[in-house]
Amino acid sequence: MRVNQPVTRRLALMLMLVLLGHVSSAQQKPDCTVKVTLLQVNDVYQFVPVERGSSGGLARVMTLKKEIEKESPNTLFLLSGDTISPSVESITYKGAQMIDAWNLAGLDYSTLGNHEFDFGPDVLRLRMKESKFKWIVANVIDKKTGNPFGDAPAYVIREFDGVKVGIFGLTLEETKVTSRPGPDVEFLNPCETARKMVAEIHAQGVKTVVALTHLSMSEDKEVARCSGVDVIIGGHEHTLLESVSGGAPIFKMSADARELGQIDLNISKSTGAVESIDWKVIPVTDKVKDDPQFVAINNKYGALLKDLSRVVGRSSVPLDARSAEGRTQETNVGNLIADSFRLATGADVGFMNGGSIRADELIRPGPLTKRDVLSILPFKNRVIKLELTGAMLRTALEHGVARSAEDKEPGRFPQVSGLRFTFDARRPAGSRIVELTINGQPLDDQKKYTLATADYIGIDGGDGYSVFKEARLLIPREQGQFDSDVLRLAIARKKVIAPRVEGRIKRVDKDQKQTTDCK
Ligand SMILES: [Zn+2]
Repeated sequence: MRVNQPVTRRLALMLMLVLLGHVSSAQQKPDCTVKVTLLQVNDVYQFVPVERGSSGGLARVMTLKKEIEKESPNTLFLLSGDTISPSVESITYKGAQMIDAWNLAGLDYSTLGNHEFDFGPDVLRLRMKESKFKWIVANVIDKKTGNPFGDAPAYVIREFDGVKVGIFGLTLEETKVTSRPGPDVEFLNPCETARKMVAEIHAQGVKTVVALTHLSMSEDKEVARCSGVDVIIGGHEHTLLESVSGGAPIFKMSADARELGQIDLNISKSTGAVESIDWKVIPVTDKVKDDPQFVAINNKYGALLKDLSRVVGRSSVPLDARSAEGRTQETNVGNLIADSFRLATGADVGFMNGGSIRADELIRPGPLTKRDVLSILPFKNRVIKLELTGAMLRTALEHGVARSAEDKEPGRFPQVSGLRFTFDARRPAGSRIVELTINGQPLDDQKKYTLATADYIGIDGGDGYSVFKEARLLIPREQGQFDSDVLRLAIARKKVIAPRVEGRIKRVDKDQKQTTDCK
């Protein structure tokens, strides 16, 4: 292990958990090398710390960055996408607050995450113009110009002490349907694009190539295998992940800057190629001091931050707002939300897609603030009411579990109120619901039922819920309350909540081992 210099040793003592790694590309004798340090964060939705202040926070990241830069002057600060949305602050500022924070923190480059398009392409263009750092975009194309979106560069080349590093950016193709890029934005295949980028960068005599990506781990692995990149700085999963594929290491940090990744590329001065890579994962905790300069951002957004800290009620149980759980099984937060929709509208059924339930944490029992509520439901969806047949409702539920065997965390997974169902994900998609009751009675395909849900799926057909488009609207979008208001009022009315998982959704194949796909 190299890189145990005084600064890093200090950090190691200071922090509870530091993961270290090292890979070497060749057997030949070490050459004279130049160290280029990549500092990585990804999926950072707020600049203030998370988990009641104990973790994350860009003011702390800034402190760590400055310390590392003293030790390693050839440092690039990278964001692997997802920052403009969703967040409580973005409801008001549409991501401008994050651009302010990144500008101050000295970010160098970011790639586009899927959530960058949540407010549409025009808002994103505006945010890109406000950025003092560069967005790097290789596979997201503006059809009108044929250029990368926002006229961003597809790649950049940087030189440090005579060695050159090329960096290109990749974004999930599924952004087309999971966000709002509009009809004029095209997403190209990541692997094909990566191959082209690596060839183009190599053709300029640059041997060291970094992919800054916002892809799923399986796509990152494919990019590593198919393109010949040296390292992938990735994101999107919200989980700390380290992997190697095609000889290239892949790194992903947890969301909201809970860790700062430090990846040191040791580049040969004579060949310009990566000779070895050292890395460590530095936890960003309340033991790290805030950079005093960051106070400018806290002051600028002070009024909003104060309003968000207002207490609206209490929970006597932990609230499970973790994304993986909400997209795979019944959760107490899913029940709380679906119940609040049903009760606020007097519908037979409350329905919410797991992917619209955010926060991605187990919220500890105790006081609940406005921020907590908005962090669970940050999209400002309107709660609408529909009338539909039993057959349509069954189709909707089938759609909701149609990817439950295929995807790890399908955003379409339904959280429900007023009904119970059992599904078997071993069966073919479209015939997985094996039992379905409403108010204790089997579902009647011919009968009409009412259903309350978010306009995102109920009207816009988001997450593929096109079946709701056929339903009759009883409460249209314009008359619907915001989902977060519905939830906040439900909590405030009860003062103390204790939602439970109560067997509304059962999966019968849960204990079965997954088969391996060796295609
Ligand atoms: Zn993402």
